[in-house]
Amino acid sequence: MSAVIIDGKQVAKDIRAELEAQVRQLKAEKGIVPGLAVVLVGQDPASQSYVTAKEKACAEIGIYSDDNRLPAETSEAELLALISKLNADPKIHGILVQLPLPKHIDESRVILAIAPEKDVDGFHPVSVGKMVIGEKTFLPCTPHGVLQLLLRSGVKLDGAEVVVVGRSNIVGKPLANLLLQKSPYGNATVTICHTRTKDLAAHTLRADIVIAAAGRPKTITADMIRPGAVVIDVGVNRVADASAKNGYRLVGDVDYLPVKEKASLITPVPGGVGPMTITMLLANTVQAATMSAH
Ligand code: NAP
Repeated sequence: MSAVIIDGKQVAKDIRAELEAQVRQLKAEKGIVPGLAVVLVGQDPASQSYVTAKEKACAEIGIYSDDNRLPAETSEAELLALISKLNADPKIHGILVQLPLPKHIDESRVILAIAPEKDVDGFHPVSVGKMVIGEKTFLPCTPHGVLQLLLRSGVKLDGAEVVVVGRSNIVGKPLANLLLQKSPYGNATVTICHTRTKDLAAHTLRADIVIAAAGRPKTITADMIRPGAVVIDVGVNRVADASAKNGYRLVGDVDYLPVKEKASLITPVPGGVGPMTITMLLANTVQAATMSAH
C-alpha cells in the first residue's frame, strides 16, 4: 500500500480563494480593507524571507500590508511604542511580530503588548486561554493549518487516537489542545510525546494519526507506524545534500519514503504543512477585519 499524498499547496490555494472572496465582500459591503502590520527587527535571512512571503500572500488576496522593518539595535521601548501605535491604527486589523526577536528584547512582553483583538498569530495569553477553554479566538497558524489539512482531507477526528510528537508552545501544545476540544473539529483522544517520553514507538504504533513536530529528521520511522495510519509531518529540517544547488535540502521529521508505504495519508515536506501556515495567518487577518465591523 502507498499512502495518498495530502497536497498542502492545493488545500492552501483553495482556502486562499475562499479568503479572497471574503475580502472582496468586506470591501463591497462594509468598505473595510483588511490590514496586516508585519514587524521585523533585524536582518535574519530566514525571517526576512518569511516576512516577504507573508506580504506577498497578503497582496495576492487583497489584504493591505504595512511593512515595518527595524534595525537589529531597536530598543524594546521603541518596539513597544510601534506596537502601541499599530494597536490604535484603524487601518490595521492584525499585527504580526516576526519571531525570534533579538536577545535584548523580551518576547513575552512584546506579545503581551499586542491588542488581543489584533493578535493574528494567536500567541497572546488571552488568545491561548480562549483557545484552551474553547472560546472563539485567533488560532495559532501552524496548528490551525494542520487541523484544516486533516479536515479537508476527510480524516475522521471524532474518537481517533492521535499522537502529537513535540510539546512546543507554537506547535505541539496548541495542536494537541485543538484536537481534544469538544467540537465537531476535535473530539480526538490525544497523547503528547516529547524527549522524556519513555517509549515513543509504543505510543505512535497505536495511533490512528501521528503528527510529528520534533524538528529532527527521521524521528518517525516506518517501524513506528501502524499500517493505514495518517501521518502529518510538521518538521522542517535542513540536511546536507551535495547534489542540491545550495548544498542542502529540506526534509521533515518523518522518514518519508518508507513511511509512505505504510500510511494511508501523508503530508510531504516541502508542500504539506508549510503552505498552510501563512494561509491561516491570512485567515486570521480576515477574521480580525470582519470582527472589527461588528
Ligand atoms: P521546538 O520548539 O524545538 O520543539 C520540538 C519539540 O519536539 C520539543 O517539545 C521536544 O521535546 C520534542 N522532541 C524533539 N526531539 C524529539 C524526539 N526525538 N522524540 C520526542 N520528542 C522530541 O520546535 P517547534 O517550534 O515546535 O517546531 C517543530 C518543527 O516544526 C521544526 O522542525 C520547525 O521548523 C517546524 N515548524 C514548521 C512550521 C511550518 O510552517 N511548516 C511552523 C513551525 C514549526 P522537549 O520539549 O522534551 O525538548
